Amino acid sequence: MATQASDFQSLSRRYTADKGFRAFIQKGLSGYYKKRDENKANFQDWQGARDLAAETKYEAVNHLDKYLLEFEEKITERGAKVFWAPNAEAAREYILKVAKENGVRSIIKSKTMTSEEIHLNDALEKEGFGVFESDLGEYIVQLRKEAPFHLVFPAMHLTRGQISDLFQKELGSEATDEPEKLTMIAREVMRRKYCEADMGISGTNFAVAETGMISITENEGNARLTTSLPKIHVALLGIEKVLPKLEDLSLFLPMLATAGAGQTMTCYNTMYAGPRQPGEPDGPEQMHVVLLDNRRTELLADAEQRDALGCIRCGACLNVCPIFKNVGGYSYGTTYGGPIGSVITPHLRGLKDWKHLSAASSLCGACTEACPVKIDLHHHLLQNRRNGAKDSPNPAEKVAFGGFSLMMGRPALYRFAARLGRIFQPLQTLANGTILDPLRAWTGTRKFPALAPKSFHDQWKKDRGGRK
Ligand code: SF4
Repeated sequence: MATQASDFQSLSRRYTADKGFRAFIQKGLSGYYKKRDENKANFQDWQGARDLAAETKYEAVNHLDKYLLEFEEKITERGAKVFWAPNAEAAREYILKVAKENGVRSIIKSKTMTSEEIHLNDALEKEGFGVFESDLGEYIVQLRKEAPFHLVFPAMHLTRGQISDLFQKELGSEATDEPEKLTMIAREVMRRKYCEADMGISGTNFAVAETGMISITENEGNARLTTSLPKIHVALLGIEKVLPKLEDLSLFLPMLATAGAGQTMTCYNTMYAGPRQPGEPDGPEQMHVVLLDNRRTELLADAEQRDALGCIRCGACLNVCPIFKNVGGYSYGTTYGGPIGSVITPHLRGLKDWKHLSAASSLCGACTEACPVKIDLHHHLLQNRRNGAKDSPNPAEKVAFGGFSLMMGRPALYRFAARLGRIFQPLQTLANGTILDPLRAWTGTRKFPALAPKSFHDQWKKDRGGRK
């Protein structure tokens, strides 16, 4: 029976075997590294900025009760409605209710990974609403009926040729591989959708408690149109998105742009503080803010890994991760891929089914080093492994490590096993179909390092004329 772990294994095996795909992803990211490093140099003290960001998030996450209430009070004063969603189902139901009560027919969305987390599009479409993604990358993967490949670059796995083919098939456009022309084709469709939409759904990068505002940062301007043209704006956010003060954005906005996309600043940074106010010429008539828990409070209760709630979803840890770069975003089978996804998915969706993600790591620590808010990612992966082993011990591992421990505690046994290893090593390729078959998972793609013809112990004894 297929499980999350076996799906991960088969998909990652498939993607890793595709050298062309891996080269394409790595080429795509090479420009990012250069720009990110150039922009990091614009910070007077990048490491100091990381320290400050981590402290600010620590303060926010450890006082969510205070800051979320402050945020709610301020934004409610200006007419927004705040809904506290304990789980995905409650969030979906609330948004559906708002849509039905207001006779909504067409919905436009800007980029929001939180909506992927709660499978919002499926729920809306099932109820007969037309839902259109307005972020170009999201629109492309929506046309392909796929999930986003990456937190920040949803369509990074596709070539221009593939996008052109898709547009020809789905939109009847001319073939082109010019990025500007491809963008204009999508834009033409989108403009109509903005005007037709009754409801705009957005994500949120940060919620500011002090002023009761949400901040959305984007490069295409589509979120501005999504949130201001339709008569209803629904902003969806995880409860961890709150920051204490407005001035915190002066750090987090450039930091998110630099770490996430190698930019000095993202092109459009907009604050939303409620629906259209009396006397204002534009803006939505209603604004709804959905604060999603969905097991985040369980992560909050885990003092060891609580700092993972500080994630600003910049995607930097994915970009540097040797596993992500080889297995790609779809192997993970969950909304949040890469190192942060491997850390938080067992909390959000259950350790038993998702602990395997934490084993897919080289523990090189590149993710921790790249993270702008200093989340201790690779140690959290180790903690998940430990928790997984405690939660549902693997009998084969128990036997293997028990045997290893027995052998390491008895030098004579260790030497005997090493001798056996030398004798039987040439037979490793015959393991297929024998009781050693499970080893094929390892030996199928790599060779054991050859054992030296003589052990250090034997060599030492020989050099000393038989003396120990
Ligand atoms: S864990 Fe850190 S690097 Fe990874 S997405 Fe979150 S903030 Fe960015």
